[in-house]
Amino acid sequence: MSWEKGERIYDGKGKRVYALKGHNDVLLQEFKNQLTAFNAVKVSELDGKGELNCLITTAIFKFLGEKHIPTHFVEQTSTTSWVTKKLDMIPLEVVVRNILAGSTAKKFAIEEGTPLEKPLVEFYYKKDELNDPFISDEQALMMKAAQSQKDLDTLKSYALAVNKALIEFFHKCGIKLVDFKLEFGVSMDGQIMLGDEISPDSCRLWDEITNEKLDKDRFRRDLGQVKEKYQEVWTRIQKEWSSYV
Ligand code: UDP
Repeated sequence: MSWEKGERIYDGKGKRVYALKGHNDVLLQEFKNQLTAFNAVKVSELDGKGELNCLITTAIFKFLGEKHIPTHFVEQTSTTSWVTKKLDMIPLEVVVRNILAGSTAKKFAIEEGTPLEKPLVEFYYKKDELNDPFISDEQALMMKAAQSQKDLDTLKSYALAVNKALIEFFHKCGIKLVDFKLEFGVSMDGQIMLGDEISPDSCRLWDEITNEKLDKDRFRRDLGQVKEKYQEVWTRIQKEWSSYV
């Protein structure tokens, strides 16, 4: 399919989004080299990061599609861009945790790296001015972030299905899926589906043997070798999941 880029609709932290001429139900998304952390208080540019995230997220979304998880993925158009279905985004970040790290480990003073008996699903309200606070189901309904408890339950069950699929995906690459963040939206025909991206920017990924961090914590915590470790994730995916790259 040939696509003609239209006007820029949105310039986000990790992606630029464009309309596609003659198509009302799809968008072009270009992955940026910009890296941000702590609600964009820390910002940097990393040559080639956008390409690695685009390649990694595309492979993952193709894999999830085969696992019958509805996603916005339509087609990869270059090494830094893809076409996606247009979604009306739900203003919730859906975080799934298998091992405690980051904000929840800090909140309860539990040592980072503590495995959980079962995966934990949490919602955060997407609002930069409020620093994306944790939000309960009832609060999410009060804020009309979701239409009904049934929709919140659908988000949770998709999030757990993504988690199950991705644990398998990353285990084959010798990587532990510690936690990750998902965003969902509603398609023009009213279906809830997975949007945004899944990449080392939005996941915590640790080497299975050494626990070395292969994700954005390298940037957040000034550990160095950010691009090298994103590249390492991509190299392992290419080797183990060649049918999706
Ligand atoms: N995350 C994200 N975007 C956000 C917040 C979190 O992609 O705006 C991801 C983060 O990379 C991690 C997971 O969600 O994989 C859980 O993040 P956490 O709540 O521990 O937040 P943080 O440690 O970044 O404060």
